[in-house]
Amino acid sequence: MSTADTAPNADKLTNTRYTETRLDHTGTQEWDTWTDNIFQAGWSHKCPTYINRTPPCQGSCPSGEDIRGWLDIMRGMEKPTHEGMSRDEYAFQRSTDANPFPSIMGRVCPAPCEDGCNRNELDDNVGINSVEQYIGDNAKTEGYKFKTAEQDSGKKVAIIGGGPAGLAAAYQLRRIGHACTVFDDHAELGGMMMYGIPGYRVPRDVLHHEMNRIVEMGVEVKLNTRIGTDVTVEDLEKDYDALLWAIGCKEGRGLPIDGFDEAPNCISGVAFLEAFNDGRLQVSSEKVVCIGGGDTSIDVASVARRLGNITNIAEKDFAENVVLGHTAHDVADSANKDGADVTLLSRSSIENMPAAQHEIDDALREGVTIIGCVSPIAVVKDDNGRATALRVVKLEADGKTPIEGSEYDIEATLIVSAIGQKGDMAGIEQMDNGHGFIDGDAHYQVKGKPGHFLAGDIVRPHLLTTAIGQASIAAESIHHYFTHGDEEMRKRPKVDKHTFSLEKKMGDTGLAPEASPVHGHSSVRGTDDADFAIHNYENRSSNDIISHDKLFLGHFEYEPRHVRETIDVESDEVLGHFAERLVALSEDDIVSESKRCMSCGMCFECDNCVIYCPQDAVKKTPKAQSTTGRYVYTDYDLCIGCHICKDVCPTGYIDMGLGD
Ligand SMILES: Cc1cc2nc3c(=O)[nH]c(=O)nc-3n(C[C@H](O)[C@H](O)[C@H](O)COP(=O)(O)OP(=O)(O)OC[C@H]3O[C@@H](n4cnc5c(N)ncnc54)[C@H](O)[C@@H]3O)c2cc1C
Ligand code: SF4
Ligand code: SF4
Repeated sequence: MSTADTAPNADKLTNTRYTETRLDHTGTQEWDTWTDNIFQAGWSHKCPTYINRTPPCQGSCPSGEDIRGWLDIMRGMEKPTHEGMSRDEYAFQRSTDANPFPSIMGRVCPAPCEDGCNRNELDDNVGINSVEQYIGDNAKTEGYKFKTAEQDSGKKVAIIGGGPAGLAAAYQLRRIGHACTVFDDHAELGGMMMYGIPGYRVPRDVLHHEMNRIVEMGVEVKLNTRIGTDVTVEDLEKDYDALLWAIGCKEGRGLPIDGFDEAPNCISGVAFLEAFNDGRLQVSSEKVVCIGGGDTSIDVASVARRLGNITNIAEKDFAENVVLGHTAHDVADSANKDGADVTLLSRSSIENMPAAQHEIDDALREGVTIIGCVSPIAVVKDDNGRATALRVVKLEADGKTPIEGSEYDIEATLIVSAIGQKGDMAGIEQMDNGHGFIDGDAHYQVKGKPGHFLAGDIVRPHLLTTAIGQASIAAESIHHYFTHGDEEMRKRPKVDKHTFSLEKKMGDTGLAPEASPVHGHSSVRGTDDADFAIHNYENRSSNDIISHDKLFLGHFEYEPRHVRETIDVESDEVLGHFAERLVALSEDDIVSESKRCMSCGMCFECDNCVIYCPQDAVKKTPKAQSTTGRYVYTDYDLCIGCHICKDVCPTGYIDMGLGD
């Protein structure tokens, strides 16, 4: 076993607490003397006010998940608002508001949220996607469902492509009452989740469950149907009120070198993985050379090692004939299989390869040979035109400059290019921007085509979470199109969607403010006792991401992260090893891990401000009126503006702003 993620910061963990308080970057205090800056009763006009800001975890999650919110729920701080709802179902609802695939994200999202987490400044990031995996896996066990809108809008959307972008868009559109039909040219939904990523990384029962839960919302699905050939775009325009292009990038780019396009045993990585994932390809080849360095190339190399090779295999069963659809392997006899010799080549050095370090380590352990700083220059062929080797040149450490005279050949029976993908535009050439993508604007509307929207890899190939985040924004744009026609949409905010809403929370907990008597631009005076406003609170979450220097890190003790383990597969065990390798954390570990979250930008009920206020001006909100973000209030008759509450607030929720 080893750990799935990077090791925690060991030297920080030998201590127990962050010792600095409010220091500036030079290590000196922000102020010279305490009396000058704390006891300001004679003249201070500033009192605390409560500011909701977005934590950087959410700011770095391309789906925009309210991570702080679902961690708060999992640790038991934020309680379910509905009678009979469990903690886990409430966390599931919060997480899937932005992203309906928690089990899949928890397994294969590279978790940019964790890189952004403020806790990295203290000891080590919160293990966000291990908690997300728990939320998703538990929802599967418990059979939680998604809700649709109570009323249908009467509008119909054609979604072209049933990958993560198309399905996430269908989910968001059904929640607001729009009918959807998903068209996909495969026999099954899922896009690259089904036909790219191997089952030992995304188990198929998990994938089917998370996709079916969306389809059960009343999504119509038309499989084996290609738009552009089986159904025309014009027909869709006639039959539907809007079209969403979520067609991904399934056409692999070949190597731009002599001989690649002509040799039959030179193929693309996505074609190789598709043949494996739909069950046709059951044996790889004797000497596989894969060129890339990113996720796809690692998947190709790992699958090739698992499939192995059969010596003296019939020509009709050569891997390329299966990949190109000329034939399919019968159930291959594993007893006859040997290990395939797999080499992965990258232009960058091994340390700088785009794939995650733990993936590179796994591939090496599983027996893949990785060579960095080389570039392919030609395919060497035999008299029949088959590739027998790949000619490469060594590069300087910059990964760009060829070293003269360093060319050499690497023997190959199968050459796989995994250097990038583009959209398959056959039959829909009118959508192509000339580079194999579709051009859209910031609202994910197709440029120059009203009623056409887009999301996912066809915008720019990236991650599952990116495709899902874009789908959510595209669904909002489609809704705007239905309700406001072609009226221009507002500029998108910096933090785009799914931020915590105190107004919603108060509504859900029966604490919604009364209807406002103020209309238009008129104003009323003396509103401090009025119940139609949320007092002394500002929601800056759509623009303000709270950085670690706004927190009081000294409040938190060092605590190692609960790290998921992975089952290590050694080179001599890899043949035929298709079991999942990631081991989920236990429920206890998940709760403890959630407690490591510092709740950046939102009160987490630590009581520091209540305890340390010298005037007893900060008080706990009476239980019946208390909810997330409304746990304390200030009696402004007693407040002298000393700002101790702000200084001891661990989460940066308090600003001395009132009266400014
Ligand atoms: C091998 C591989 C491994 C990856 N690993 C990871 C990972 O570990 N983590 C991660 O976050 N991301 C990973 N990614 C990236 C991720 O899979 C993509 O970003 C994501 O799937 C894009 O979603 P999408 O819905 O835009 O497109 P897709 O998933 O490609 O789905 C598009 C669907 O539309 C269909 N389609 C296309 N044209 C038409 C048409 N004309 N008519 C009807 N249907 C059509 C396609 O066949 C496909 O089913 C990986 C990608 C690959 C290729
Ligand atoms: S989808 Fe990815 S980035 Fe977003 S919360 Fe989950 S693991 Fe983090
Ligand atoms: S500590 Fe919690 S709220 Fe802060 S960035 Fe990390 S996960 Fe997000």
